[in-house]
Amino acid sequence: MAKTADIIIVGAGVVGCSVAYHLARMGVKGILVLDRGQIGGEASTAAAGMLAPQCEAPGPGPFLDFCLAARRYYERLAPELKEIARTDIEYLDWGILHLLDEEGDEAAEGRYRWQRELGLTVERLTPEEVFKLEPGLTKEVGGALFFPDDHHVNNAELICALAQAARSHGVRIVEGCTVSGFIYDGDKVAGIRTPDEIFTAGYIVLCTGAWSWQLGVLLGRRIPVEPARGQILYAELPELPVRHPVWGKGGYVVPRLNGGLIVGSTVEYVGFDKSVTLDGIRRLSELTLALLPGLAEQPFTRAWAGLRPHAKDGLPLIGPLQGLDRLYIATGHFRNGILLGPLTGRLVAEMIVGEPVSFPLDAFSPGRFGL
Ligand SMILES: Cc1cc2nc3c(=O)[nH]c(=O)nc-3n(C[C@H](O)[C@H](O)[C@H](O)COP(=O)(O)OP(=O)(O)OC[C@H]3O[C@@H](n4cnc5c(N)ncnc54)[C@H](O)[C@@H]3O)c2cc1C
Repeated sequence: MAKTADIIIVGAGVVGCSVAYHLARMGVKGILVLDRGQIGGEASTAAAGMLAPQCEAPGPGPFLDFCLAARRYYERLAPELKEIARTDIEYLDWGILHLLDEEGDEAAEGRYRWQRELGLTVERLTPEEVFKLEPGLTKEVGGALFFPDDHHVNNAELICALAQAARSHGVRIVEGCTVSGFIYDGDKVAGIRTPDEIFTAGYIVLCTGAWSWQLGVLLGRRIPVEPARGQILYAELPELPVRHPVWGKGGYVVPRLNGGLIVGSTVEYVGFDKSVTLDGIRRLSELTLALLPGLAEQPFTRAWAGLRPHAKDGLPLIGPLQGLDRLYIATGHFRNGILLGPLTGRLVAEMIVGEPVSFPLDAFSPGRFGL
């Protein structure tokens, strides 16, 4: 016999956990989250945790606005999660450094200009100012842009906190449960199938990250999201060589409060292969030593890879699917899902309960792909 839930969320990454938490906080009951693996077991835990709209955005526009709103949202979310989930997500407002080439960096100069024109805070640092701020860095830099309002967070703790906060509001999260099909009532999607069970639901939200294409196939829809592998090298060090996340040529280093240093990351289109490769390790090692030559003799602790959900136009897809009453997707957050996931969850929850949506999502509508 079919089991029932009011709302089924497929995928317990940052997006799915955030949708669940925000719905529950708005008083919605009967929320069930299903994940074929573990809570946060894919891209959301693999990530580096930067909240970096200014350091990463290509230019002004709706995507930058969304990223800035998402960054602001953390100011409210971090203390809220501390109180509800008793978890410190290590939300650190230390800023992010972007190193400049010695021979000049036109892209960075352009970024500096348009951000100042928009009234965003960005500082240009001389090489001397960079060394003063981060004495462990290479001396071969032409200065840096400093983005004091870009932050970082411990993304593994963030996922635990969102899941814990959702559970404390009555959400049920089931791990090891693969959604393998949908059931219909006429034209309406009325529930989901797993290999063992059928669940009927009033609403279904797909938060399946890099696997969204596959769920789309089950629905007869082409959701244009593909996996983009990112490899990370991680070292636990007796002393952290940097205080800030630092972007250099081809990647970044991010310090963690526990003494860990994250070095990332590759962007590779190799399907669903999550291998850590020798070439990946080589590239990340070279990056580490280019930024932090003093680490040459340090052992690295481990390495991992995750699959970012990359939509065809690089932008998220958030909203209902046309013609499939009460079925929503929230995916395609690519390199910014830790930044955007919490606010995305709130906005999807607002759509479902029929509240005014507090940030315009037109640019991210699945409808732009005819979905
Ligand atoms: C190396 C790396 C570094 C990154 N660094 C940053 C960063 O610094 N800042 C930032 O903002 N973002 C970063 N990102 C991007 C960010 O991690 C992703 O955008 C984000 O985690 C996507 O979240 P999600 O919930 O959509 O996907 P996921 O976390 O991948 O979750 C999707 C979930 O769906 C489940 N699922 C899939 N199919 C099914 C099914 N059929 N049935 C049930 N469950 C299913 C999966 O098991 C998975 O748990 C990084 C990503 C990587 C890989």
